[in-house]
Amino acid sequence: MADVFDAEKRSDIMRRVKSKKNKSTELRLIEIFKNHGITGWRRNYPVKGHPDFVFPKKKIAVFVDGCFWHGHDCRNTRPADHQDYWQKKRERNMKHDQEVTAMFEARGWTVLRIWECELKKKSESALLDKLENCYERENQKYGKDFEI
Ligand SMILES: [Zn+2]
Repeated sequence: MADVFDAEKRSDIMRRVKSKKNKSTELRLIEIFKNHGITGWRRNYPVKGHPDFVFPKKKIAVFVDGCFWHGHDCRNTRPADHQDYWQKKRERNMKHDQEVTAMFEARGWTVLRIWECELKKKSESALLDKLENCYERENQKYGKDFEI
């Protein structure tokens, strides 16, 4: 089935959707960090792989991934139209994500990927558990000076 937009227009639209979404999810995560007194994070930290947030001391790279773009298997993301188009794009993103994760891990970093849907209010305690588990692992590696 043909797309209603030509390719250029389509990628223009998607670029806008993507950047808007990234911004709001990042701001939401900052809010969660602040509400729970989580410190030590940096945004836009200049490190290869461009994580959304970094805990430099703990070598934790945090990525906030849009469910749709990164292929999360949740109900956020099941478009009925243009399945092939989206599927290809998602597969590319997922492959890229895996490569980036592997690159960080090879350098001794921990990668924490947070899904957009995990940023919802009702998922907040699960997200905090996830963050805490990640810190716990790092504390075991580096000594216990990092608490939420
Ligand atoms: Zn999701």
